Amino acid sequence: MPELLTEELTKLHNTCDDFAGKYLLAPNASHESVRSASKQAGLFSMTQPSDFGGSQATQLALVVARETLAKHNPPYMDAVFGPSPGVLGGVEGTLVSSHLQPLLAGEKRCSFGFTEPDNVAKATFGIIDGDTLLVSGQKSYVTAGAEADFINTLVHIEGMGPSMVVIDTNLPGVEIENKFMSLDGSHHAAFKFNKVLLPLTHIIGEPGKGLPRALKQIGDTRLLFATLASGYMMWVLNLLTEHLKSNDKSGEPRGNKDVVRWHYADLRIKAYAARSMLYRTARIADQGENIVNESMACKVFATEAVGELVDTAIQLVGGHALVDDHPLALLYRKVRAWRLAEGASDILRLNIGRGILELNKGRI
Ligand SMILES: Cc1cc2nc3c(=O)[nH]c(=O)nc-3n(C[C@H](O)[C@H](O)[C@H](O)COP(=O)(O)OP(=O)(O)OC[C@H]3O[C@@H](n4cnc5c(N)ncnc54)[C@H](O)[C@@H]3O)c2cc1C
Repeated sequence: MPELLTEELTKLHNTCDDFAGKYLLAPNASHESVRSASKQAGLFSMTQPSDFGGSQATQLALVVARETLAKHNPPYMDAVFGPSPGVLGGVEGTLVSSHLQPLLAGEKRCSFGFTEPDNVAKATFGIIDGDTLLVSGQKSYVTAGAEADFINTLVHIEGMGPSMVVIDTNLPGVEIENKFMSLDGSHHAAFKFNKVLLPLTHIIGEPGKGLPRALKQIGDTRLLFATLASGYMMWVLNLLTEHLKSNDKSGEPRGNKDVVRWHYADLRIKAYAARSMLYRTARIADQGENIVNESMACKVFATEAVGELVDTAIQLVGGHALVDDHPLALLYRKVRAWRLAEGASDILRLNIGRGILELNKGRI
């Protein structure tokens, strides 16, 4: 429960509350100022492994920190935490110095290449020839791909199976087909790989074992979305509470109408449920338990709930909440993507069903 935190986590919560007010919401805040303050405050390294100088926070600590920051709906949230290893976690050999270390130090940027266009006959594939790997194929939705130095890419290596492979974006045969922006304002690129020649050392971990590695990163991001959604829900509810306490034209508090109260209470119920799921799941994860199904459940519930909260809040606040730069209008755009990114809600529901019916996995 968010209430029963240890002394240390309560301190972290208070640090993040102060940090948001002092740095993220400062009128002259910038990416650089937030990053430098977060290093000072010890927040930056929470997402980085201790082997590389990070403090490698627990899932619960990350939930507390991210949710507390998101509760302020601040800009520059993405500058607070340092890059995490993602699929490069635990990698050995030359990739450590050539890619992992520069990534964690912020010297190189990486993206994740998983999704493929619908209309391709063959998934991105690789053929091993001596000590090289030849990769061809397409990835259709690579976030921040145009700025990336390398893409951690899912490649089906013939005779071995799905593997994660590091593809440097400056190699011959790597082509950006298209750059685009989604509703939430984030930037993406579609890539074509035409016989890209790589050393075998660019295969991350064991060949053929790339899918569990990719799914671990996707699972962590699902919990991250649920955490941010939970924080934003609190921000929406605080805004709505103030709005409903204020008087309408007749001089009566807006929240006096039964139908308005009904909607408001319904939103609070959903936020309470989402937070409870989130904290329970983080605690289970910190016991070393598998949370694949639970993080899918958290992600589906929290991202749908935050969408409903923002949508209903706009309805209750009225037309000026839809003006382009109103924080509710901006949040509406931001949270919509989460019901598709890192797994569409419909597909995750099917996976949760399969988890219990076919694999006997998943808690209630
Ligand atoms: C903001 C954003 C950032 C992203 N960043 C990345 C990234 O960095 N790297 C990356 O690789 N990808 C990225 N993606 C892509 C994302 O992973 C996919 O959009 C997502 O997995 C859904 O796949 P899709 O878009 O192909 O939709 P589809 O898989 O075509 O699904 C669309 C709809 O079809 C239905 N459907 C599809 N399959 C089934 C099924 N098996 N059973 C039942 N119903 C089904 C569902 O209703 C589903 O919602 C990003 C997407 C967004 C929106």
